Amino acid sequence: MRLRRQPKVEYKDLLLAESPTELEHLLREYLEAHPNDIWAYLKLGNLLREKGEPQKALRLHQTLLAKPKLDRTTKVKVLKAIARDYIELGKTEAAAETYEQIVSMMPERSAYEELLRLYESMGDWDKAIDVKNKLLRLDKKSEDQHLAILYAMKAYSLADEMPAKEREAERYLKMAEKIYPDLPLILYVRGELHMKSGRNELAVDAWKQLLMEHTDYAYLVLDKLEDLLFKEGRFSELELIYEDTLKVARNPHVIAHLIHILLSKGEKSRAMEYLDELISSYGESDGLRSLKYLLHIETNDIETVRDELRVRGSPFLPYKCENCGYESTMSLMQCPNCRSWLSFR
Ligand SMILES: [Zn+2]
Repeated sequence: MRLRRQPKVEYKDLLLAESPTELEHLLREYLEAHPNDIWAYLKLGNLLREKGEPQKALRLHQTLLAKPKLDRTTKVKVLKAIARDYIELGKTEAAAETYEQIVSMMPERSAYEELLRLYESMGDWDKAIDVKNKLLRLDKKSEDQHLAILYAMKAYSLADEMPAKEREAERYLKMAEKIYPDLPLILYVRGELHMKSGRNELAVDAWKQLLMEHTDYAYLVLDKLEDLLFKEGRFSELELIYEDTLKVARNPHVIAHLIHILLSKGEKSRAMEYLDELISSYGESDGLRSLKYLLHIETNDIETVRDELRVRGSPFLPYKCENCGYESTMSLMQCPNCRSWLSFR
């Protein structure tokens, strides 16, 4: 690569860089002549991070922080760069600590929102609720649906400590219910709390209710319901549950699970009808096509077809985030890509 040969790189030259590598080179030359230009250092650090060298970026940004006489705005800018370096390095906790510092200096919405996303990804619901309340105060509001989701998640996080934390979990669930009584997550969590407390019957009821009343969110409970009924020796009830659900709404994931059940019973032709329905309403994915092919071949080898289906989460029909299009074979409550809640279908 040819670099401009100039005695001294000036600010305007930086704007002419044609590639990140050239910009890095020019920035380094520029900084030799302007060692106190914090902006150029920040830019160089960000460039290193974007190039996939977050450790180097972090070191450079931390050096900047040690410089004397940084004004508050600049310091916040440097801290934001450091937080992004930590995120890139997978050091979520350090990133959150840095954002805490940022909001203590400048309580702006975007920094609180970033902090909230970090606590959500860490599963630290107490801190997430705290930050969410601060955001609500900025808006002069006392509650919203997102707060209800966080309360429900806090209750969910206590499921492994059942029955000791039963009352605390119930209290959070009630708080969620008060804000947003129709939140499907509440039934999901309620079922989980029942199950972890050994009340399997009630867990099944809660998840069945979720299927009937919020069929769009079926993906949350299908696998759990199957596992639990299987453990209870009530696996045979599933077919009826799914058929009842489909009378309410033709949810593709419910159909997919029903196909699975029909195949395990050897009912190839009914499985085929449902598969045709899936393909006509959902389009022909590779998984669905290969399944159809397997069902079409002149064989009674249902075992092979079932094996194809046995992998968890109906991989032939992935869950898709309605907000950003991210696909997952696992049922997720929050999209790992765009951080939307309950956005999978
Ligand atoms: Zn998404």
